[in-house]
Amino acid sequence: MTRHPGMVAVRRAPGSTREIEADLCVVGSGAAGLSAALEARALGLDVVIADASPQLGGQAVESAIGTICGLYANGLSPHRVTYGAMDEMLAALTANGDATARRARNTLILDYSINAWMRWAEDAVADRGVTPLTGAILREVTLEDGRVAALDLATRWGDVRIRANAFVDASGDAALTWLTGQEMYQADAPVHGTVMAVFEDVDTDLCGSWPRERFHDAMKRRGAEFGLVRHDGFIFPVARGGRVLLNMTHIETPQDAAGLALAGIAGRRQVDGLLALFRDEFPDAFGKARVALYGQPGIRQTRTIRGRSRITVEDVRTGHRPDDVIARCSWPIELHTEMADTHWEVFDEDHMHHIPFGAMVPEGLDNVVVAGRCIDAEPAALASVRVMGPCFAMGRAAASAAARLGSGSFHQIDIAGLQADVADNLDRTDHDPWTKSFMAESGREADGA
Ligand SMILES: Cc1cc2nc3c(=O)[nH]c(=O)nc-3n(C[C@H](O)[C@H](O)[C@H](O)COP(=O)(O)OP(=O)(O)OC[C@H]3O[C@@H](n4cnc5c(N)ncnc54)[C@H](O)[C@@H]3O)c2cc1C
Repeated sequence: MTRHPGMVAVRRAPGSTREIEADLCVVGSGAAGLSAALEARALGLDVVIADASPQLGGQAVESAIGTICGLYANGLSPHRVTYGAMDEMLAALTANGDATARRARNTLILDYSINAWMRWAEDAVADRGVTPLTGAILREVTLEDGRVAALDLATRWGDVRIRANAFVDASGDAALTWLTGQEMYQADAPVHGTVMAVFEDVDTDLCGSWPRERFHDAMKRRGAEFGLVRHDGFIFPVARGGRVLLNMTHIETPQDAAGLALAGIAGRRQVDGLLALFRDEFPDAFGKARVALYGQPGIRQTRTIRGRSRITVEDVRTGHRPDDVIARCSWPIELHTEMADTHWEVFDEDHMHHIPFGAMVPEGLDNVVVAGRCIDAEPAALASVRVMGPCFAMGRAAASAAARLGSGSFHQIDIAGLQADVADNLDRTDHDPWTKSFMAESGREADGA
């Protein structure tokens, strides 16, 4: 055999698959999946978390979402509605000034630094001993008598097979449930996504207090000239250094493998159009502005499971509290079915709507629970519970259910026990120290758009 200095010959061993075993496998590391993994680990489960992206964090990180909504009740003195892993994240982000509060939509929302979220997620997973598997795309599910026995994932380093007792489908698209062949739902009117962006070198002292209508007016008058399809959305200064975060584009939500890249390109073109428009219309504030960050395409809603129960719009509007409630939220119905405008239905001070465990349990599967933006809900109802506060709460409930599963079925979980596990996410109404400081920081000024 010829020897080459400094080199050894290697050859792929055909059929070699890396095997991983755990008590719980979580697919998706967005708000819902991260929460599920960390909560389950805290309950003593051996957990692996797999994500198709090269980093942890889901859309909260890669789509540059930038604000946590649905974490507070409504009104001028709102209480927090979700606890658990959220507390750890708040502790990490507030310690370095990486989360700040703002009033909007009759509630309190938190702006966060995207890098800080990512670093918190990585450290939390690594320090707790959760096994992370990034760049791992779920492509096949092995079913045995209504139970998922194993998942096969493709990675750059070859195939990985994960065997676990329980699985959380926090993939946003219900990818795990889909691969089992279950019937699922898709909205009959498309729900649009957004490419978020950060502009830098903006005079934020100047434009920071402008009403949003000023931007919307320019988008309406001249948007077509700059390739824009949307006339509303938000823009606000973030962190330090003359930066603003924008949620002002709309893209078609891709429903097939070929659509994602084109949707991303279309969204980034709109970001460029916004920059050109704002430079032209507002040269004093945006004359030197540049794009600091294009988010990956942000996808609001794709497929939802067929659960044991479904959240209806009527449930949301009336604040119906189901017997198997596991989370609550007062975020508006925020529907993105029109390209030009977003439909908002903001609720009053006393309003609260609820998430039943039944909406997280796919029919026909015993050891899969779903958390996040793919639970069973009518599209407009989902538009009020898919924000990150309730995603954390769903993750927590999924973890508690997994810890209670044993050889049983998620369809027969002891609901009273589960509700006791997540009691503060159902009934707590006090103002914790973070809330007090967020309230002081945000003041009681009129709501922003
Ligand atoms: C543009 C936009 C703006 C938004 N603004 C806000 C806001 O301001 N505040 C707020 O609270 N919420 C906001 N939302 C809603 C919120 O961001 C999402 O609903 C939330 O991120 C959903 O979290 P998730 O954990 O369910 O899913 P995701 O964050 O989407 O995470 C799902 C993860 O699963 C992984 N995955 C998918 N398929 C596979 C597969 N086959 N194999 C392996 N991994 C897979 C993905 O890579 C991804 O990381 C916004 C959403 C969008 C799109």
